[in-house]
Amino acid sequence: MASQVQQPPSGMAKPLEPTRKKYDPKKSHITEEPITKSNWYKHVNWLNVTLIIGLPIYGLIAAYWTPLQLKTAVWAIAYYFMTGLGITAGYHRLWAHTSYSARTPLKIFLAAVGGGAVEGSIRWWSRDHRAHHRYTDTDKDPYSVRKGLLYSHIGWMIMKQNPKRIGRTDISDLNDDPVVVWQHRNYIKTVIFMGMIFPCLVTGLGWGDWMGGFIYAGILRIFFVQQATFCVNSLAHWLGDQPFDDRNSPRDHVVTALVTLGEGYHNFHHEFPSDYRNAIEWHQYDPTKWAIWVWKQLGLAYDLKQFKQNEIEKGRLQQLQKKLDQKRQTLDWGIPLEQLPIIDWEDYQTEAKNGRALVAVAGVIHDVTAFIKDHPGGKALISSGIGKDATAIFNGGVYNHSNAAHNLLSTMRVGVIRGGCEVEIWKRAQRENKDISFVSDTAGQKIYRAGFQVTRIAEPVASADAA
Ligand SMILES: [Zn+2]
Ligand SMILES: [Zn+2]
Repeated sequence: MASQVQQPPSGMAKPLEPTRKKYDPKKSHITEEPITKSNWYKHVNWLNVTLIIGLPIYGLIAAYWTPLQLKTAVWAIAYYFMTGLGITAGYHRLWAHTSYSARTPLKIFLAAVGGGAVEGSIRWWSRDHRAHHRYTDTDKDPYSVRKGLLYSHIGWMIMKQNPKRIGRTDISDLNDDPVVVWQHRNYIKTVIFMGMIFPCLVTGLGWGDWMGGFIYAGILRIFFVQQATFCVNSLAHWLGDQPFDDRNSPRDHVVTALVTLGEGYHNFHHEFPSDYRNAIEWHQYDPTKWAIWVWKQLGLAYDLKQFKQNEIEKGRLQQLQKKLDQKRQTLDWGIPLEQLPIIDWEDYQTEAKNGRALVAVAGVIHDVTAFIKDHPGGKALISSGIGKDATAIFNGGVYNHSNAAHNLLSTMRVGVIRGGCEVEIWKRAQRENKDISFVSDTAGQKIYRAGFQVTRIAEPVASADAA
C-alpha cells in the first residue's frame, strides 16, 4: 500500500511521520510481507527518503555554486543550535519526559524551532520516544539498536514501520497541550516556514544572501541537526560506558554528548528519564541542561525535576557491585566448604602419615604437597604442620600469615574435619540460617573478604596440638 493513499484527509503528507494514523487494523500492512525484488519499493518510506537523504544531496550539490558568506555561516551555526535545542530541550526533555515545565512563550519558541529541525511533530516524536523508553531494545521499541546501528540511526525512518508493532504509550497530557496540538495540526506550515523560509529571511533581509540562507541555514543545517539528533538513537545506544545499568543498550559517552547537544549521557538518562539533566557533573557537556537552567533564571522555565543524589549513587554503586561480582567469579577461591568431603580426624592423620602432605587449619584440610618447596617460610616449617592442627601455627603461633597466604591456602583445601572447630561454627550458622559472616554475591557465591577467610582465627589459639 503506497503511503500517500493512507495519508490524512488533508492530502498532505507529514514529513517524517509514517502513515500510522489512518490505518485499518484488519488489513495487512506491507511490513508483514517479506521484502522481494518486486515489492521492495513499497517498503520504503519515500517521503522520508526525500527529506533526510534526497534534500541534503541536493543541498551539497547546490553548495558547490553557492559561495558561503561569513555572516551566513555564523547564522547557520546559531540556527543549528536553536533548532537542535528545539528537539533536545523541547521535544525530548520538555514534552516526551516532562522533566520541567515551560511558560507559553518558551513553549511556542521550542515548538517553532523544533519544527525547524524537520523531525516530525512534537506529538508523534514524543509518542515514539515514550515507546522507546518503555520498551527499550524490544520489538516494540521503534528504533531498537538491536536491529542494527544503521537501523536505529536512520533505517527505522526510511523503511516503513508496522504501526501495530510499536508499543502503546499514553500521550493524553500532550493532547491537552494547545501548543502541541496546534503544532501537530499545522505541522507542514511549521516545517516549511521554520525549516526553510525563516532562516532564508534572516540572511536575505539581513545581508541579501537569499540563496546562501536557503542552502546553508536551511537545507544543510536541517541535515546536520537531523543527523546529530539521530545519533541519540544510534550512537548513544552503542558507544560508551554503562555506569548505572548494563542490562539494556543505553550508554554514556562524551563524543555522543558533543554531537547531540548534551544528550550523550544516555545510560543515566534511561535510568532517570524525568531528570532535566543528562550530564550530572558540572564539567560534562550538556548545553541543553544549561539552556533550561538559564530559562529558569529568566522565569521562562520552572519545576525542574532532579533525582536525589542519594538515589543516583545507589544505582551507580549497585552496578559497580555487579562488576565486582563478575570479576570475583573469574577468580579461584578454592572449593566451596560445603562441597568438601568431611573427614574424621583419625583418617586425616593416617593419610598424612602415609605421605600425603595434609595440613589442617581451623578445621579445614589442605593438601600442600605441591607447595612445600615454594613455601616462603621454608620447607621445615610447613612440614612441621603436616598431620596436625596447624591453626595456631598458621595464625601467629609461629608466623601470623598474610591475607594473601590465607587466600592461597584456600585454593589447596581438600576436606573438612568432622567437628573441626571453625567449621562447626559455620555449619551451625548455616543450619540456623544465621549466616552473618558469609555474604553471597549476585551469583550466590560466598564473598571472602580480606581478613575474613575461614582459616583466619581472630584470637590465636594457645595450644598448637589441640585435637
Ligand atoms: Zn535511548
Ligand atoms: Zn529520552
